[in-house]
Amino acid sequence: MKSRFGLQFSAFTRRLSRLVRSVRFRLMLWSLGIITLILAGFSVFIYTQQARDIQYDSQNRVAQMSRALFTVFHDSTVNLVSPDDSGNVVGNAPGPAAPIDRSRSPIFQSYDIAALVSPAGKVNQKVGPASDSDLAAVLKTWLNGGSSTGLLVTGAISPAASGAAAGQNYYFLLAPLPADWLSTGILVIGTPIDPNGRLPALALNLGLGSLAILLITLVGGYWLAGRVMRPVQTITRAAQKISETDLTRRINLGTRDELGELADTFDQMLGRLQSAFDRQRQFTADASHELRTPLTIIELETERALDRRRKPEEYQRALEVIQGENETMARLVTDLLTLARMDAGQAPLKREPLDLSDLALEIVERLQPLANHRQVTLVSGDLPEVPIQGDRQYLIQMLTNLVENALKYAGENDKTVTVETGCCQGDDPPRGWVRVIDNGPGIPPEHLPHLFDRFYRADKARGHLDDLSSSTSSGLGLAIVQWIAVAHGGGASVTSQVGKGSTFEVWLPLL
Ligand code: ADP
Repeated sequence: MKSRFGLQFSAFTRRLSRLVRSVRFRLMLWSLGIITLILAGFSVFIYTQQARDIQYDSQNRVAQMSRALFTVFHDSTVNLVSPDDSGNVVGNAPGPAAPIDRSRSPIFQSYDIAALVSPAGKVNQKVGPASDSDLAAVLKTWLNGGSSTGLLVTGAISPAASGAAAGQNYYFLLAPLPADWLSTGILVIGTPIDPNGRLPALALNLGLGSLAILLITLVGGYWLAGRVMRPVQTITRAAQKISETDLTRRINLGTRDELGELADTFDQMLGRLQSAFDRQRQFTADASHELRTPLTIIELETERALDRRRKPEEYQRALEVIQGENETMARLVTDLLTLARMDAGQAPLKREPLDLSDLALEIVERLQPLANHRQVTLVSGDLPEVPIQGDRQYLIQMLTNLVENALKYAGENDKTVTVETGCCQGDDPPRGWVRVIDNGPGIPPEHLPHLFDRFYRADKARGHLDDLSSSTSSGLGLAIVQWIAVAHGGGASVTSQVGKGSTFEVWLPLL
């Protein structure tokens, strides 16, 4: 068994790995990476620019100082060998080298170095924080590099040297004094490359600034990514709450961005699913209800027949009722099966070129005996050629349903049912149609919009118990008609007037 600590640890690692895999974390990491790159580039650019400026300044200073000192030595030489007012040359004997005088050049600072060194490395004069060994080392570097005038040498002042200059990097300019001057030797001028420590301060500032920006980016990026991902979490939570029995929930994100669009699409899909589920539920409830009625009738009829001894005619009547209800159930089950197959896509159409008029004529001939039985006149009207592409079996079933309905509901006593076909070449697309017209009782207008719905019956009173003639009614016939018409790319409609009759029309695209 795992210890409590072990359980806590595994929960923590699970949470951590979920965080690392999350889009929020990755978004934050990406923004952090990009800002780091930008900051690094920016800092390097600023730092190198500043370093170049500082270097340029110190080179300028060292050159200025060397010019000032050259003037000092030149002046002292000229003064020593130049003639006086009376034209006599005064003191042409070699005198002592002029002392390096910082006060002659105001740009000299306490950290600057000036020295006069012999080529052998002996320091004859020196001003500034450098030790003799520093100067000797600088001279050595200069001599090794080929002793051209004005060469710049970088070198560090030994940490032992005095004051703030200790350990600093210096620029040295070394220049030999001209041979004909009284002062001889190599002039060494040095100035710190970064006397005020501006570069380390800049590096520190850049580092701290970048760190602060990265911290803000980290926190801000995490917060922003969280905000962006919040709608996704809302969608996820809503989807988790939706169960297969309750599809009424909606996300209702209410934003107009891409995520809002996604949520709307999701809501629309839920709406479609819900109505499909509702239809399914309604269909099942209707089907059970429809089956329960004939089963109840059969049960009542058998109970009645068996509760005592009866005459043969009464048994005969009971059996007839049972047979009728059985027919109803058989028809209902067949229709249900047909619709279920159609809905499930298990009833593919086998399309072939057909003439709708031929089919109409075939139905009229086939249903003639039924019409005779009902004492209804079944005739064919105009039947011009109507070429279509369709499934013969399905189209026969469609026409049979329509004509059977007309015969069933037209009533008796000199009623007529007419089947006719025609073409509407001018329509887009060109259509062919078949109409089944009866002069029966008609259908009240309030029923017309629902007539093609499953299990819908306009006249519910005409139930099984009252009227045996309509005992095979299932309320699915017209739904099947519409399904077949739509599956062929067409449609079905009805017009009716109470007391005058009804016209059912199916249109199909012409071949
Ligand atoms: P049913 O099995 O009840 O005939 P249908 O879907 O074929 O189912 O028809 C639905 C309803 O439409 C019928 O119950 C009937 O009320 C009405 N109906 C259909 N055809 C006609 C018609 N020719 N005349 C009057 N009513 C009709």
